[in-house]
Amino acid sequence: MSDAHFQFDVVVVGAGPAGIAAACAAAEFSDRVAAVDDTPWLGGQIWRGEQARPKQSPAQQWLEKFRKCGATVLDRTSVIAAPEAGLLLAEHADGPREIRWQKLILATGARELFLPFPGWTLPNVIGPGGLQALVKNGWPISGKRVVICGTGPLLLAVANGLRSYGAKIVSINEQASWGALAGFGFGLLKHPAKLFQGAGIGMGIFGVPFRCGTWAVKAEGDEAVRSVTLTNGSKTWTEECDVLACGFNLAPNVELPVAVGCDLQRGFVRVDLMQATTVKNVFCAGEPTGIGGADCALTEGQIAGYAANEQSPRAEELFAERDKWHAFREALAQTYALRPELKKLATDETLLCRCEDVTLGRVRQFSGWREAKLLTRCGMGSCQGRVCGAAAKIVLGWGAESVRPPVLPARVGSLITTENQR
Ligand SMILES: Cc1cc2nc3c(=O)[nH]c(=O)nc-3n(C[C@H](O)[C@H](O)[C@H](O)COP(=O)(O)OP(=O)(O)OC[C@H]3O[C@@H](n4cnc5c(N)ncnc54)[C@H](O)[C@@H]3O)c2cc1C
Repeated sequence: MSDAHFQFDVVVVGAGPAGIAAACAAAEFSDRVAAVDDTPWLGGQIWRGEQARPKQSPAQQWLEKFRKCGATVLDRTSVIAAPEAGLLLAEHADGPREIRWQKLILATGARELFLPFPGWTLPNVIGPGGLQALVKNGWPISGKRVVICGTGPLLLAVANGLRSYGAKIVSINEQASWGALAGFGFGLLKHPAKLFQGAGIGMGIFGVPFRCGTWAVKAEGDEAVRSVTLTNGSKTWTEECDVLACGFNLAPNVELPVAVGCDLQRGFVRVDLMQATTVKNVFCAGEPTGIGGADCALTEGQIAGYAANEQSPRAEELFAERDKWHAFREALAQTYALRPELKKLATDETLLCRCEDVTLGRVRQFSGWREAKLLTRCGMGSCQGRVCGAAAKIVLGWGAESVRPPVLPARVGSLITTENQR
């Protein structure tokens, strides 16, 4: 193997909880396992920076297990294309890489979902998860007034985290109704660990106004956001802030699975009981199969790792646990389903594609995503449609008909290598 050419029995793309669990399980039965991730750390979104903490958390235990399992780590390596069966093309700072596999496990996770509304592109309007990541990396938040809105359990977790860094949380505004949240809370009785986690967060944000059935309709400011207008459908009011954290739960990273040829089902990668996709020898685990949280990702990852080594009995031992997390995943989807009002927040003047400055009004003139893309350049900027494409799916009901490489932004040199492989 040279620095640019790699060959493994099992390649796992993504080193979040799903990928780490998959690599650990696969490495029990194979000496040639690799985990590939575009970040410089292990653990994906939820466990970033966890390595530095001495405590015996489940995250630490999994990271420790992974370090000892013998899998090769290819970090800072973005998989950008899958030109043929058994081959991935990736990009590293040192240049393009070619990674050959016998079995492939896709554990590419999810990203935050943003929906456009007037003012959503102002500086300091940011996704809650992104804000949390910035703050963990040293972005100063102490004393800043933060309004949090959107949907999903991340809103409360982020509020709690930001408060511990000294942020002044003005309010938390969840678009889901109180009824939906109460039903979800009741269901948590079946998951005592989650209930305990929720109680800890609740104590951390004690005293902060928490509203359900409330969403942002407009952000205003100059060189940065200064205020946000909120509504509960009958009453509308404005709150001043220095930072607006707004995100609508998560969207699965299905671009690479689609590029590999995997079928989707209701927007997620279709898998069977063994986490096998519709493509031979390709498995998928974690958020691309459904937004279910880290425990669900860990269980699916282990099943995929065993199944990729044809260890069905070991995989089957985990089916009951996965069923439990799938019920939790279903409850999450129902509780945090987006209300129809959110699709109508953007006006014709609101930017849909912030990379290429394309308004919703311009995009709306076309019949679908492909035509709008060709004629306006929407989705062709640095996010490659990962933000506006996901928003167009909700706001306009359009899906991307196909995925073209690169699935992540890449250098021209890497693309030339990709073309040469075709
Ligand atoms: C910004 C953000 C913050 C979050 N914060 C929290 C939190 O505080 N608490 C919480 O409970 N949950 C949080 N979540 C949700 C949590 O990340 C998931 O529930 C869980 O980690 C899913 O695990 P996963 O392994 O499926 O995916 P992830 O943890 O997302 O891991 C996927 C990994 O794959 C890598 N990857 C994707 N595509 C490629 C590619 N083409 N090439 C190479 N690498 C690739 C990604 O960089 C990532 O490291 C957050 C999610 C996001 C998006």
